[in-house]
Amino acid sequence: MFLSFLLALAQTPDAPALTSGRPIPLEQACYDVKHYQIGVRVDPKARAIRGRTEITANITAPTQGIVLDLDGRLKVDRVVRLVSGTADDRGQSLDFRHEQGEIRVATGALEVGTSLHLALEYAGEPRVAPNAPWDGGFVWSKTKDGSPWIATANQMQGADLWWPCKDQPDDEADSVDIFVTVPKPLVCASNGRLLETKPAGDGWQTFHWHVSTPINSYGIALNIAPYETITRDYRSITGEMFPVTYWVLPENKKKGKVLFEDILRQMAALEQFFGPYPFRADKYGVAETPHLGMEHQTIIAYGNEYKLDRWGEDRGYDELHLHEFAHEWWANLVTAANWNDFWIHESFASYAQALYAEHVGGEKAYFTEMQEQMHFANQAAIAPREKRSTAEMYFGDSEGSPGNDIYAKGAWVLHTLRWLLGDEKFFAALRRMAYPDPARELATDGSACRFATTDEILRIAEEVSGQELDWFFEVYLRQPKLPALSSTVKKGALLLEWTAPNGQPFPMPVEVLMGGEHVRVECPDGKGLLELRGKKLALDPRDRVLRAGNGEH
Ligand SMILES: [Zn+2]
Repeated sequence: MFLSFLLALAQTPDAPALTSGRPIPLEQACYDVKHYQIGVRVDPKARAIRGRTEITANITAPTQGIVLDLDGRLKVDRVVRLVSGTADDRGQSLDFRHEQGEIRVATGALEVGTSLHLALEYAGEPRVAPNAPWDGGFVWSKTKDGSPWIATANQMQGADLWWPCKDQPDDEADSVDIFVTVPKPLVCASNGRLLETKPAGDGWQTFHWHVSTPINSYGIALNIAPYETITRDYRSITGEMFPVTYWVLPENKKKGKVLFEDILRQMAALEQFFGPYPFRADKYGVAETPHLGMEHQTIIAYGNEYKLDRWGEDRGYDELHLHEFAHEWWANLVTAANWNDFWIHESFASYAQALYAEHVGGEKAYFTEMQEQMHFANQAAIAPREKRSTAEMYFGDSEGSPGNDIYAKGAWVLHTLRWLLGDEKFFAALRRMAYPDPARELATDGSACRFATTDEILRIAEEVSGQELDWFFEVYLRQPKLPALSSTVKKGALLLEWTAPNGQPFPMPVEVLMGGEHVRVECPDGKGLLELRGKKLALDPRDRVLRAGNGEH
C-alpha cells in the first residue's frame, strides 16, 4: 500500500473485525489453514454478495471448537462440516455463533492431526470502503459508460470484510481457489491463474482462479469491470516464460499500452535488484482499480491514472505501480510473520522507489528520491518486538504507532545500511533477504515463500557482510530516537563522535566532503578522526546516514 498522509485523519478502528492480527484466541491458534475455496457471487445492482467459503485446516492443538473472522455486516446462514468423498450438502451442520466479527463454531472434540473441512455460507452487503485502500472494503464505482467497476481492498481491516477466514498474517493457505460469479459482460480479474470461465445461468458467468502458492489473505482480491486485456509472455532472468497481463478499462486501452511497456521495464529492473519474480507459476497481473493501489499477489491494484509524475515532476515511469510491484517480493514472497515486522513490506517497497530512480536517472536521481522520503516522526520503534495489529502499527494517531515511519524512515534505514556495507555486500544481502538460499530462486511451487522477522533480516545482513550489526538494528529499528553526530576541530584534525540513544554503541562511518573530495571516515567505537586538508568541509553532505539533523548542512 502506498504511503498516505491522510492516515492520521482516519479513525482508529476498534472492533475486532476492523483490524488484522489481533491477539489470537486459543480456538484460532489451534489450527493451520491449508486451503481456502472462496466462492462469491457479486451483485453490482444490490451492492451485495452471497458467498460460500470452504476451509481445510489441520488441527494443531486439541479443541472443542474453532474461531473464524467475518465482519458482522454479513450474515452466516450455515456452517457445515464436510466429509470427504460425499456430496457437499451431505456434511453435518454445526452450531455456531457470529458475534462481534467472530464466528465460533462448535465442532466437537478435535484431536491433533485431524483434517477439518468446513463450508460457511453467508450473504449480505459488505462494508463499503470509506477511503480505499487505507480504510478498506468494497469499492463500488462506475466506468465512463456507467458499467460497474468494483474492487476490494482490505489490508488494514483484513479479508474477513468479505469472506470468512483466519485473519492472522502468520497463517497463509498453501493454495487457494477463487470462484467469482458476476453478470456478463463483466470480467473478474483475481489472483493466480484463470482456470475456467463458465456460464452461471441468467446471463451470469463464473471465473475460476487458482493460486498455486501460499498467499496472505489480505492479498486476495476481486477486480470487476468490463475489462479488456493487454498481455505478453515475459522471460524471467531464470529463463522461464510467464504471462504478464494488464486488465484495463476499455476507455483507457491506449494509455494502458504505454503503462504496459513501463511495467515490463520495471519487471526487468526489479528482477535484477531482488531476484526472479516470485510467482512465475501463476502470472504477473495488474488490474485498473477505482482506488489508488494495493499489493494483491499476482494482481496488483493500479489506480494512479497513468501519471508518470509526482508533485509535477515527470519521472518517465509510474512510481505507484513500482511501489506496489515491489511488494511482490516484500509482502508476498517475504511476508512479515506478524504486523510488528510490517516495515519489511513497506520500507523495502519504499526503498525500491529509490533504487529504480537510480536505475533510470543515476546517482543524482537516487539522492533526490531519498530527500523526498526525508520525513520522520521518530515517536515509536519501526520494529517493536511484541505482536501488534495492523491498526497499532499503521495509524499515526494511535499511541505507540510508528505510522508512516515504516515507509520513509525504514527506507532510510536500508539506505544507511547500503552506505555501511558498501554496494557489493548490500546488494548481495538484499537478494538473500528475498531468497535466503540461491536454490530457492529457482523454485516455482511456492516453497520460496516465507515468513520473515526483523531478526532474520539482521542475521542475513550479518552473514553476507561478515559484520556484527546488532547495534545498527537496535538503534534504528527497536527504538525511535535518532543517533546524533558531533564534530570538533583540534590541531588540524577533525574529530567525529556519535551519540546514540540509550548510550548504545554506534560505529557508523561518516562521509566528509573535504576540498571537493568525498572521504569515508571510519568510526570504530563511535569516534573518528580525519587529518584536515583544504578549508572547505562538510559532514555527511549527501545524507548517507539516517541521523538527527538530516538535511541540515
Ligand atoms: Zn506499500
